[in-house]
Amino acid sequence: MLQCAECGGPYAISGKDRYSCTNRKKRLPIDELGGACCGNSKTITRHELEERVLNCLPVAFYSLDIFDRISEKMVAHETNKLKSAPSRRDELGEELATIKSKQASLMQQIQDRHAEGRPRLAILDDQLDELEVTREKLVKELAGTAEEPVEDFQAKIAKLKAQFNPANTELAIRELIFLARNNADEQAKRRLMPIVRDLIQTVVIGKTPGHQPAALQVHGDIANIMASMDVMDILQQQFVAAAQNDFMARIASGEIDTEQKRKKLLEAYAEELLRKSPEWENLQVSVVAGAGFEPAAFRL
Ligand SMILES: [Zn+2]
Repeated sequence: MLQCAECGGPYAISGKDRYSCTNRKKRLPIDELGGACCGNSKTITRHELEERVLNCLPVAFYSLDIFDRISEKMVAHETNKLKSAPSRRDELGEELATIKSKQASLMQQIQDRHAEGRPRLAILDDQLDELEVTREKLVKELAGTAEEPVEDFQAKIAKLKAQFNPANTELAIRELIFLARNNADEQAKRRLMPIVRDLIQTVVIGKTPGHQPAALQVHGDIANIMASMDVMDILQQQFVAAAQNDFMARIASGEIDTEQKRKKLLEAYAEELLRKSPEWENLQVSVVAGAGFEPAAFRL
């Protein structure tokens, strides 16, 4: 998932929570570099990497179909889990078969001892009795466990689809992003990362002059989504995402407790957006002329 821009090798944890180029660390000669070692000495902490990647998410999440896609994937994942979960009837059947074979083996031992004229062993009889008690319990449970009707399964899937619909998915993910960013909630971050991994194939880490933070370039679905968006859109959405985070933080802190305050804050955001738009129009030209967008990569 993490790649060196210089030698194409992997970035891996070296030291405490810090990623660096593995080839450089091992001083491996690189064919593509004419047998020289990788010169990319940039390292990045896990914290900074996640922060920068997470910061670009809200923008990509304004792309129209992203929540439909995630919702679809979640429903498929849960449906698979449902399908592969063994029914209680099957489980009971297997447990009963195991007990029966254990019983048969014990009976054989008892018979063998008897045939050899050896005394009966109480421990064998006790084990046989215990197994019989368990067997009776399982038989009873099996009788009380009805075959799961097919409609039930369909209903479960319908429930899953309702639970993981795009609107709910959007709400849940926005909440996770909010928690992961503003409150740096580690648990929210961990829950968000599988979604991030699904959207981002590779992060390429590159050199920058001096002590500047490493250059990051993402590849994968998220890059395609962002590249297909207008620069103006991205800046606007970035603003809306920041405003939304700010809005939620103020509500959470109790600062916005009346409808009037809420309205006033929303108006302030709208005003600021109007004020910024002309600045962004100028910026749009320079961004496009400068870095530009590669088809399948996006700089963070
Ligand atoms: Zn390297």
